[in-house]
Amino acid sequence: MINYLYQEQNWKTQLSDLITDPKELLQQLQLSTDQLLSGAILASEQFKLRVPRAFVAKMNVGDALDPLLLQVLPHHLELEDHPEFVTDPLGEKEANQLPGVLHKYQSRFLLTLTGACAVHCRYCFRRHFPYQENLPKNNDWDNIRSYIQQNPQINEIILSGGDPLTLTNAKLELWVKRLESLPQVKILRIHTRVPIVIPSRIDDELVALLKKSTLRIVMVVHSNHPAELDAYTIERLQYLAMHQITVLNQAVLLKGVNDCAEILSQLSYRLFEAKVMPYYLHVLDKVKGAQHFDLESQKINQIYTALLATLPGYLVPKLVREIAGENNKTPLYGEQTF
Ligand code: SF4
Repeated sequence: MINYLYQEQNWKTQLSDLITDPKELLQQLQLSTDQLLSGAILASEQFKLRVPRAFVAKMNVGDALDPLLLQVLPHHLELEDHPEFVTDPLGEKEANQLPGVLHKYQSRFLLTLTGACAVHCRYCFRRHFPYQENLPKNNDWDNIRSYIQQNPQINEIILSGGDPLTLTNAKLELWVKRLESLPQVKILRIHTRVPIVIPSRIDDELVALLKKSTLRIVMVVHSNHPAELDAYTIERLQYLAMHQITVLNQAVLLKGVNDCAEILSQLSYRLFEAKVMPYYLHVLDKVKGAQHFDLESQKINQIYTALLATLPGYLVPKLVREIAGENNKTPLYGEQTF
């Protein structure tokens, strides 16, 4: 591990000091493999490397197959074309009702307020999403409010990726207040990977902002491997729970990263220690550039069967696939097809 005192650094400083150069990342980890570097540079031209130093500090020095590194290091295999892997695997263009609004399910929709993420996950299904054309401007709120009012079944809004916790607290608060002004909205869900990659983002100011909201807050973090949950990250996540904020985790099943029941079991126990409940285990969305993370359905079934046999039921995340146009995420196990 790199000895790096990121814990005490302000989150904004960390966010403005990301590693974006593959060469620097490999140097930090004392990896100088030429092959790794040339592949990383090429693939990074299409989807830029972006990783916080706090996350790099959790990686093993000298290990080119470190499971955290594999999630963020661009790879030459991303450049290969596979007909099944496409730029919009979940049909999100269809669901894009208004700038920033992706409405897929009955009672809730995604609101993307920023295209920025603290980390670029190589398997991200939104890696080709045209965020810049889609971000709501200040005067778009009137249209979003009308859209919510015209759909009385909507009771939950999901702030989602780009990562909402890269926004300032002032901007977050502005949107929380806007949503609070609509009595039909009861729940605010925040989908974020920031607490995992920059845990100091969970500070008193953010917690105070969320606590005083009249909305029920649910934070869904995204951690794929137990090594992402070091003592400091666990402590920050516990801090949310201490303040009655419900925290869930969603993970993605990734070849070479967490394709093993033992690792997933450790992840669930570590999440539980952090007072975070495992929620979803997603099968990889077939996005162009992520094919090297894909697993055979037989292997997925094998891993999940072993996981069920290892963990108490309350720690087993639901294995799901998102299918474009479906009314809900599709559970996968037993009779279900992959
Ligand atoms: S943080 Fe989430 S939205 Fe951002 S790149 Fe990673 S998976 Fe995609």
